[in-house]
Amino acid sequence: MAVKISKFIWDITYSCPLRCGHCYSESGRRPSRTLDRDTAMRVIDVMLEAQATGVMFSGGEPLSIRWAVEAMKRLHDAGVSVALFTTGWSMQERTATALAEAVSNVAVSIDGADAALHDAIRGRAGAFERGMKALDILNRVRTERQAAGQTCFTFGIDYTLTRPGAKEADLERFVEAAVERFPGLDFIRFGAVIPSGLAAEREFETNGLLTIEEMLDLMEVGRRLATRHENGPRISVTDVRYFLPQPGASLVDLDLMQIEPDGGLRAFPIYEAKVGNVLEEPLDILWQRARDWRSDPFVAQQMESVRTMADWANTTRILDRRYGSRDDRERIERRGQSALVPVPA
Ligand code: SF4
Repeated sequence: MAVKISKFIWDITYSCPLRCGHCYSESGRRPSRTLDRDTAMRVIDVMLEAQATGVMFSGGEPLSIRWAVEAMKRLHDAGVSVALFTTGWSMQERTATALAEAVSNVAVSIDGADAALHDAIRGRAGAFERGMKALDILNRVRTERQAAGQTCFTFGIDYTLTRPGAKEADLERFVEAAVERFPGLDFIRFGAVIPSGLAAEREFETNGLLTIEEMLDLMEVGRRLATRHENGPRISVTDVRYFLPQPGASLVDLDLMQIEPDGGLRAFPIYEAKVGNVLEEPLDILWQRARDWRSDPFVAQQMESVRTMADWANTTRILDRRYGSRDDRERIERRGQSALVPVPA
């Protein structure tokens, strides 16, 4: 019998209109590796056979791919909870209407309290305005469908906390403005940036990464904001330490897998190590390889040595440089030459 994996993250493309300095996938700065529609459907077959209960569509910008909504709908119709993470850059009314019947949840990524901050963090002028317009559209579609008694997604804001975007006063004014502008908003989720991809590099570690103590303080800020808006959207601060080994608990069996755009499967989300491709080998074999990688003494020792966010960034750098493919390692070597160049408006 095929192995059961309950949750998948699927980065369906590395194409992206933005150039965030903390991007975990370096999207927009590398080949998109997007599959054609028919091959993408085979990846869905794999997830369905694994009896997935939840699939997160991410990237890159998932909505830049022609077959994206069809793929989401196929999973949704099969009873899988589908979550979409989008910049909102290309959101249109008709896309939102199609999403109403294709996903359970849409999260628009906003990482700064205003246009100046958000656009600087995300490397492109106009990103904040586009994200806000996308939320206007989602709000409208959801409100109209609810009034008509039709099913619809829940929607909200995913706010990645980096040092420039995490000042308490900014977060407060952002929440006030969002609650007022989007009355139907279901959630605002804050989460400290994870030291993965570009966010694990030394330059970002110094200027962008929060410390564990800062993150814990922000969790307290989140609790205060949640209390203040108890009749509004659900406000939370995700404890990103979830991805770290916890005392008495092992990550070896965590059945959360990350698929790259071309079907490559990561041994563990966040890190570059691959165990094969879901289009080429059975998932049972890949899963066993992933478990072997996770319990490899060197990997386990690296992960278990993490005490601080800086340790975590260091571990990511070590694991990515040791286990990434040749392409990955060459790309990592080129970082700093192109990674932080903003896209013109
Ligand atoms: S983090 Fe930024 S650059 Fe990377 S995929 Fe998301 S929106 Fe695109």
